[in-house]
Amino acid sequence: MEGRVVKSTGSWYLVEVGEKLINARLRGKFKKSELKLTNPIAVGDYVSLVLEKDQETAIIADILPRENYIIRKSTRKTNFSHILASNIDQAMLVITLLKPRTSLGFIDRFLVSTESFRIPATLVVNKADLIKKEKDKDFLKDIKEIYEPLGYPVITISALQEEGIPDKILPLLENKTTLMAGHSGVGKSTLLNLLIPEAQQHTREISNFTSKGVHTTTFAEMFTLPNGGSIIDTPGIKEFGILDIEEEELSHYFVEMRKYLGQCKYNNCKHVNEPGCKVVEMVEKGGINPYRYDSYLKILMEEDTYR
Ligand code: GDP
Ligand code: ZN
Repeated sequence: MEGRVVKSTGSWYLVEVGEKLINARLRGKFKKSELKLTNPIAVGDYVSLVLEKDQETAIIADILPRENYIIRKSTRKTNFSHILASNIDQAMLVITLLKPRTSLGFIDRFLVSTESFRIPATLVVNKADLIKKEKDKDFLKDIKEIYEPLGYPVITISALQEEGIPDKILPLLENKTTLMAGHSGVGKSTLLNLLIPEAQQHTREISNFTSKGVHTTTFAEMFTLPNGGSIIDTPGIKEFGILDIEEEELSHYFVEMRKYLGQCKYNNCKHVNEPGCKVVEMVEKGGINPYRYDSYLKILMEEDTYR
């Protein structure tokens, strides 16, 4: 029997098999991974199951190869990582211009992460109903002008007024596994409630006896969309994985910098103040957006402090 993990407590897993949900756990020794992991199984994993004698719960016998996954380092001191979710087709970052205002720096950190995991990303601007003043409209225009040419679509919706859902969000999500992220307060739950029947969200408890004292809230959870596809909700995620990126790699995850990387005078150029830096030249000539370059520098400096 094969299924997909939709929820986890760390010791028990909720696995979707066709239309059914089965409580499953790991038994005995599980395949050693090349990574040092705090969780061998993650939401989004495809697994094979063997029913237990009670015919209700199951044992996870094997995990099918992952297409990709996103990880978070547990702490800076240990080398353990936590897989947040796997087999992701795309990411959707929900942002708002007002209440709260998402910073460009935050967006760029997120995009560095998705690039590093090779996951395409879309920016969903929620609370469009609040965008009325000229300066806010201008900011929205700026966001489109910065991100769309880089290959990140920007779509504008209002979850509260249910605008942009059937025409923009549903086609985006159809038959794909989409990771949803964003600051708290941007309207992720409101959007999820529109997309997923509430019943599904509240009746998917992992058996009571299994989940005592486990921090379920920090785990990702996957919801199946009525018309095909699924959404992985990642509570409390701000950014992920970024600490694993080496200084020299960072510019590779700024898509507009990539094409110039071979053209700097020095091979190990960090694109800060080295002579003959093509990236800096392009920023000056207007070929690279200065806000994006500013984000690059900020991330570079912050990462420095961890070394
Ligand atoms: P989450 O923390 O990302 O899950 O955000 P919530 O879904 O809890 O929404 C936070 C607040 O924003 C709530 O008061 C929502 O009613 C409100 N909200 C959500 N979507 C919209 C929207 O499109 N427009 C406006 N004006 N408010 C919204
Ligand atoms: Zn350079």
